[in-house]
Amino acid sequence: QTTAATEPTYTVGTDVTFPPFEFANKNNKYVGIDIDLMKAIAKKEGFKVVIKPVGFNAAVQAVEANQMDAVIAGMSITPERKAKLAMTDPYYKSGVVMAVKSGSKVKRLSELRGKTVAVKTGTSSADYANSIAKKYGFKTVTFDDSNNVYQQVLTGNSVACFEDQPVMQYGIATGLKLKIVTKPAVSGYYGIAIADKSKAELLPKMNAGIVALKKDGTYNKIVTKYLGNGT
Ligand code: GLN
Repeated sequence: QTTAATEPTYTVGTDVTFPPFEFANKNNKYVGIDIDLMKAIAKKEGFKVVIKPVGFNAAVQAVEANQMDAVIAGMSITPERKAKLAMTDPYYKSGVVMAVKSGSKVKRLSELRGKTVAVKTGTSSADYANSIAKKYGFKTVTFDDSNNVYQQVLTGNSVACFEDQPVMQYGIATGLKLKIVTKPAVSGYYGIAIADKSKAELLPKMNAGIVALKKDGTYNKIVTKYLGNGT
């Protein structure tokens, strides 16, 4: 009998594309800070994971419906989410920024009046945009993944998008012809969400894993692997 045979397996839903946290690399391998972190936590805490890149909103819904065990997807810890799902201790700080096409002259919220902005379904960026849409007089259009959000802005169908700062920064640094024009709003931290059915056994393991990996330097190594010494 091996230890491996007795290790439990958990299904972990994630976004389809949210670099540097989760994305398919050149060799079509699914990688990123979240993916490496999840694998490292599993190794440390003695369980197996099956990663399911189903999209952000789909992953959250699956976990809310107890159809998957967890979500790791640059998921912001918010009071609304904590009321519905267990979330681990925070691991990465983020905030929401507005981005426009690189050549665009638009740089303020007040310049969005009468315009359309693109956001991703079920995200804190979408919540933020919707919360200020009336005040600034713009409309939001939603898409299920970040690529489609960016495409909207690149094609000019939307004048701007709202996205998590580290993700927008990374996208721009790796070739997206967009630019960030606002300071991060609604800053907060990413955590891992856990389904009700798995909370009792999995939440303590996830939290212990995060603490241990931050302490032994693995977490920093993972972040540096994707971001260098930048953010
Ligand atoms: N941090 C944002 C949220 O939790 C976006 C997550 C994502 O798009 N994967 O809503």
